[in-house]
Amino acid sequence: MYPADDVSVALTWSGPLRAPQAVPETADIVVIGGGIVGVSTAWFLAKQGVRVVLCEKGHIAGEQSGRNWGWVRVQGRDTREIPMMQESLRIWGELKNEIGEDVGFTRGGCFFTANTDKQLEELGAWVRTAADFGIDSRLLSATELKKHVEGAAIDWAGALYTASDGRAEPHKAAPAIARAAARAGATVLTSCAVRGVESSAGHVSAVVTEHGSIETSVVLCAAGAWTSLFCGSLGINVPQLKVRGTVARTAPAESVLNGNVFDDRLGIRRREDGGYTIAHGSILEHPVTPASFRYFIKFVPALMQELKIVRLSFGREFIDEWRTPKSWSLDAPSPFEATRVLDPQPSTRVLRGIRKNLDTMFPQLRNTPIVESWAGMIESSPDVVPIIDAIESLPGFHVATGFSGHGFGIGPGAGKAIAGMLTGKDSGIDISALRLGRFFDGSPIRPQSSI
Ligand SMILES: Cc1cc2nc3c(=O)[nH]c(=O)nc-3n(C[C@H](O)[C@H](O)[C@H](O)COP(=O)(O)OP(=O)(O)OC[C@H]3O[C@@H](n4cnc5c(N)ncnc54)[C@H](O)[C@@H]3O)c2cc1C
Repeated sequence: MYPADDVSVALTWSGPLRAPQAVPETADIVVIGGGIVGVSTAWFLAKQGVRVVLCEKGHIAGEQSGRNWGWVRVQGRDTREIPMMQESLRIWGELKNEIGEDVGFTRGGCFFTANTDKQLEELGAWVRTAADFGIDSRLLSATELKKHVEGAAIDWAGALYTASDGRAEPHKAAPAIARAAARAGATVLTSCAVRGVESSAGHVSAVVTEHGSIETSVVLCAAGAWTSLFCGSLGINVPQLKVRGTVARTAPAESVLNGNVFDDRLGIRRREDGGYTIAHGSILEHPVTPASFRYFIKFVPALMQELKIVRLSFGREFIDEWRTPKSWSLDAPSPFEATRVLDPQPSTRVLRGIRKNLDTMFPQLRNTPIVESWAGMIESSPDVVPIIDAIESLPGFHVATGFSGHGFGIGPGAGKAIAGMLTGKDSGIDISALRLGRFFDGSPIRPQSSI
């Protein structure tokens, strides 16, 4: 059980992983994965009185959900995600009152800067999209932008700006929601890898964990970067590729902005502790693996769109994935137990670039030290939009994955929508465009937004 009084910080977790003494014999629904999507789903289910068990192979938010930039934004999103994201922003706004814990959510606004008038005009296209959805996005002139971002040594032409967007602290959010789920009646198990799923008469009948089986007729796989492997072992094809993002944080420093600023040199946001979370604005690394070849054709449109920022890297990931079994016996340790927490190394080259760009953009932060750096493995779908669906070939089995580098902000809204899908109750959020089949039925694969 994830302890209700535990206030551990996910990324700097140093305590032992807490394996459960035993797993419940039965559950209405089992959720695989303790990232923001899994815990939010468990929370919404538990609040409705559903007997839900969440199994996390490592610790809550140990992977993407504890390693991201912390941006909570609707700005620039694919229109298919916007209603879910709008609901998510509403939930973030109420979260502190609802769960009794502060996860650092604040609306400091989101800025996508433009270096030229042409870029600013291109960003303007999204203002029209925003207006269709009643979102407060607008273009800022260079002078207006300077009022929000003090002392930046860059002559921007302006920015796309959404005042109602915000940020939250990733190391706090998913653990706090997991605790809220536990208080509402969910059983949250850490250090509890799910090895596979059993079926009876063609329908899901149980999940098999490393600590025993749980009888259930409904399963959600919200396994982040592991979803493709997990589903593949059940004969379900989920196209997914990974990109490594390097992130850093500075010591507390003077205020130069109070929001999230994305520039092609730097992504930067103010932190609750007075420092800044920073990342390179135009470098993401895709470690080439066998999956890169398997899914190449489906990812061509996304690769073309991200050509300027995604760099290929050739390292041990290829061999590691090659050696990973594609199916395994459920009564022996699985690949999920072999890697409790996916903890990629931050790139020193990217970190040098981050430091250089921070100093160039904000000379007043030149003496502010970078006190921590880390990396996270982003998983992406071919059109950079999530996959949320019930799997027809295995009734009772569902997936929620492919949040493609922007799943933290949308996580609570996704949890509400997914809970609706699992219980058959209308959540009010239309997720029909997010079905898995769109990648296999000849529908055009057209990414609208970026990773
Ligand atoms: C560097 C970086 C920056 C980002 N910045 C932002 C941002 O600013 N804003 C934003 O909205 N999004 C951002 N994202 C994306 C966001 O973090 C993810 O989209 C989101 O966290 C995905 O949540 P998830 O729950 O689907 O997956 P995850 O957080 O990856 O969780 C999946 C969990 O499943 C567990 N698991 C896997 N297999 C098993 C198994 N068999 N049994 C049990 N457990 C299992 C894993 O251990 C993991 O904890 C960023 C991501 C990264 C890496």
